[in-house]
Amino acid sequence: MALALAKNIDLHLPYQQLPTKKQKKIKIHCLEYGHRDQKVEYLNLTPETDVIKSRLQCIKCINGPYSNFRQQNAVLEEVLSDDMNVMKHTHFQGNLYQEFSNLYHSLNLDISKDDIKFRIATIKKQILYDLQVLEQDVLSNYDKYQEIQDKIKQQVDNLKPDFDFSELQVHLENYAKEGPNPPPKSQKKINDLLNKYVQNLHNPKIAQKKIDSLEQLKTKVNDFTKKLCFHIHKLDQGMEKIQNIIEEMKKTFSENNFTQSQLSNDYISIVLERIDKDYKDTTKVEQIKNLYTSIHEGLKYDTILNHLKQEESSKLLFIFKSSNSQIFGAYTSPALAPAPVLAPAPAPALAPAVQNPSFMFSLSKQQIYPLNSNTKPLQYNKDANDINELFTLGTQDLVIQSSFEKCKSKLGSSFDLSGYQITNQDMHLANAVEFEIVALEIFKL
Ligand SMILES: [Zn+2]
Repeated sequence: MALALAKNIDLHLPYQQLPTKKQKKIKIHCLEYGHRDQKVEYLNLTPETDVIKSRLQCIKCINGPYSNFRQQNAVLEEVLSDDMNVMKHTHFQGNLYQEFSNLYHSLNLDISKDDIKFRIATIKKQILYDLQVLEQDVLSNYDKYQEIQDKIKQQVDNLKPDFDFSELQVHLENYAKEGPNPPPKSQKKINDLLNKYVQNLHNPKIAQKKIDSLEQLKTKVNDFTKKLCFHIHKLDQGMEKIQNIIEEMKKTFSENNFTQSQLSNDYISIVLERIDKDYKDTTKVEQIKNLYTSIHEGLKYDTILNHLKQEESSKLLFIFKSSNSQIFGAYTSPALAPAPVLAPAPAPALAPAVQNPSFMFSLSKQQIYPLNSNTKPLQYNKDANDINELFTLGTQDLVIQSSFEKCKSKLGSSFDLSGYQITNQDMHLANAVEFEIVALEIFKL
């Protein structure tokens, strides 16, 4: 344990802080009443000069008196290290510099080859360390496994000799030496020997004598597997998963045209085209409005609730990431207005059903699940507080808690899974029955 810990410290590299980025800090105290103990961290960029007492603000400022201007702040430390970060987190609609800044950041022009080498070196080092820990762990468990294995050895030894093939092996080797056309006598001899071996495997008289050994073995095996099972295939499965992830990492350079989303992968282009064929056009995709990004703003249920209230009649795109790195989401279109009921006219039986175009999707699994007709794609809890449910996709297809922990999914409740072989509806979306959401992006289409 001590060894592992020491190695871990050695590996502790500041992953986020790339070598070409210089960190600068200027220590200024906030002048707002009651904030003297706080350091200035933000630069307010609100266009109206009269509503802001001081452009230099602290965390208390943006959580308190200036919370309405939260999305109009630059992070001072980031600006000091690179002027281009001034409008990195702001959302000024119709502002030329905002548009320029969004495009600039979407292109990642400030990342160098050295930054990439540094990241990959960090990954290499971390993976090697994790593999070392894995090896120690599996080998130490093997010792325990061997201890219980010894206890069933007696029963195994009672049955194992009946499979003895060594004598036949000698005969087969000699037979092979006789070349491609062995004399009929040899052919008959080898076949008789093999017949005898096979007959013994099916001989009920011999089996009767061994029945007790097998019963004893069964009892011991039950006991054995309760203590420790050995799943050697997990190592191969793990390797396959790692290779898949590396394949995904190779797409670091790819044509993913939805640069505003940091969570999405290449499959997003198929999702966007499903929403509207026009999204084949990259410039159209760049015009999609980002309403909320937890990566910048943090996961805040109240901010999300405000967006949901304001955008009740909007078409929204949600992208979630769970703590076990599954990425999934939904496109929700407001439910179509029900046709006016013209009593007493009977409902025309063959009227074409108006299909709501909403759907859920998994970017990790590359699947799309359309909404079943007559269900509401999105419902939110107007009275959500920090301990209850925030919103639901379908009836139970995805249930998001305000805490973003213990979220659940019963995929297929309102969204259609046909076309995919899904064995466990509760586990499919996030690979877990209960899961935590660690990132969320919301876009308005
Ligand atoms: Zn302050």
